Amino acid sequence: MRRIFEGLAVGKDIRTLCDEINALGFRTRTRRRWKADYSQVIGNSGNIPLTPWKARKMVERTAYAGYVCEKWTHGLPVPANHEGLVTLDMWNHANEGYWKIIKDPASPTGWRKIDTRKLRTKRTYRRAREDFPFKLLINCPICGKPLKANYSRSRNGNRYGYYQCARKHKQVSERQEALHALLRDYLGELRFTPEVAQRFEQHLREVWVEKAGGLNRHLVAANAELAQLLICVEI
Ligand SMILES: [Zn+2]
Repeated sequence: MRRIFEGLAVGKDIRTLCDEINALGFRTRTRRRWKADYSQVIGNSGNIPLTPWKARKMVERTAYAGYVCEKWTHGLPVPANHEGLVTLDMWNHANEGYWKIIKDPASPTGWRKIDTRKLRTKRTYRRAREDFPFKLLINCPICGKPLKANYSRSRNGNRYGYYQCARKHKQVSERQEALHALLRDYLGELRFTPEVAQRFEQHLREVWVEKAGGLNRHLVAANAELAQLLICVEI
């Protein structure tokens, strides 16, 4: 456990740390599974390699920093009778972006554990992206909301782009290149009548005029301001 905290403190990522620890032969504790009336052992669990998710859950235990934080303490950290395995600073560092234990005079125990995930700014999925041109144009077939775009890193370190449902429909996930190829083929086959082409051109023109008009307005305002300033300087 110390190893994990120390690794996180020097900026290693939790997946790498798990790999290192598992390579040393680490297996989770074995637990017996009992029949509901405890009359008989019906199986074993545990004795498996450490997973990043499990490691993350362990790092989140406040006991490692020497605090009890349970339902009966109303979720407030209480300094424990025992020393922590790691310092509070180290614990806070390891849980950066998840949890933080802070001194809080307003808390009955003098301490508070805050969920820093809630402090993160909410991400918006509305922005158009050059690398995912279709993210706002294609909808999830289940909920009908536009897809979001993101990259995920595979275990060998390569980055893959995905289109996914922003509402967590897991089955809706398409590789970036695959979807782009599919759409390229599809769009390449489309043929337009001259009327469509004409209307498209007109639309482009309108959008352009609107944008340029906005710029011109800024320019006029800026020029007026500049003239004003020049007059001030002359005086
Ligand atoms: Zn969906």
